[in-house]
Amino acid sequence: MNDQELQILVENISLESFAKPFIHRAYFNRRLKTTGGRYHVQSHNIDINPKMLSEHSKDVLIGVIKHELCHYHLHLAGYSGKHNTLAFKRLLKTVGGSRYAPAPVDNRPLVYICSHCGQTYRRKRKIDVKKYVCGKCRGKLELKTGDD
Ligand SMILES: [Zn+2]
Ligand SMILES: [Zn+2]
Repeated sequence: MNDQELQILVENISLESFAKPFIHRAYFNRRLKTTGGRYHVQSHNIDINPKMLSEHSKDVLIGVIKHELCHYHLHLAGYSGKHNTLAFKRLLKTVGGSRYAPAPVDNRPLVYICSHCGQTYRRKRKIDVKKYVCGKCRGKLELKTGDD
């Protein structure tokens, strides 16, 4: 999905779920890290984290779009549109938007280190260190914790 398709999706959801047009811009923003989307009070535009689609699903994306559209429509109607307001909670519930964006998946590989020779191994998935040993020296592998 590109920005153009996202724009059309947001416009459609706005009409279907809020019965009001979305007349600003929506785009994917790769720099969003911890949130699924962001509504900009100044420009009225909506940023969407592309990971909502690439790492989750279209349903998750739609839930996030509805959440941001709650901010959008409440703000344009003169409300603060903040999360803790009754107006926000009610509208979010009515349209079925997501309360929180799902946490982004951590893509960093796990690092295992041989306790004997120090050789490191990077793995996408967790490995059973009782079964797998160092390929060089057959030493015991340990999961390295923290940033590498
Ligand atoms: Zn929000
Ligand atoms: Zn080793």
